[in-house]
Amino acid sequence: SKALDRAASLIATIPDFPEPGILFRDISPLLADAAAMRAVVDAVIEPFADAFDVVAGVEARGFLLAGAVAVAAGVGMAPIRKAGKLPRPAASVGYALEYGTAAIEMSDDLPAGTRVLLVDDILATGGTLRAGHELLDELGLVLAGTAVIMELEELGGQAVCGPVHAVFRV
Ligand code: 5GP
Repeated sequence: SKALDRAASLIATIPDFPEPGILFRDISPLLADAAAMRAVVDAVIEPFADAFDVVAGVEARGFLLAGAVAVAAGVGMAPIRKAGKLPRPAASVGYALEYGTAAIEMSDDLPAGTRVLLVDDILATGGTLRAGHELLDELGLVLAGTAVIMELEELGGQAVCGPVHAVFRV
């Protein structure tokens, strides 16, 4: 659609951030555009309509998408946070990043069996989303699907984290 084409054009490509040699995709201009954001949120939800009870977003940019997806889909939102931020973490999973290492954590707010749509802004190496899947598993939650705004295809993330619905691929 025209709105999705416009949304794609609003993702900026920034060389050498946050480190030399990294080509960073900046979704900030997309977030700022109402029609583009609406189109992206609808495109994230579309394959999973009525198949999820809650949307989980990975800190920090995944939150920006998850909140919007939750309201548009009429479901709640569950934050997956970087280690050390939650007062009552119920599960913690470590993983490797495109640059560095990290761990993510989640609270025990959802009943076992809750169907979760896991979202993030960008799929790079897939380590973050694979850790997210492990986290959901540890808490007895059911993965309803995984979606991102943009997949960086040459990094082969889906080989690491399994199938991901990407609105855009580069
Ligand atoms: P992965 O674990 O798939 O290698 O990296 C994905 C995580 O790193 C996501 O949480 C994403 O926010 C962040 N990330 C990696 N590369 C980029 C990028 O080029 N742009 C943005 N916005 N985030 C990135």
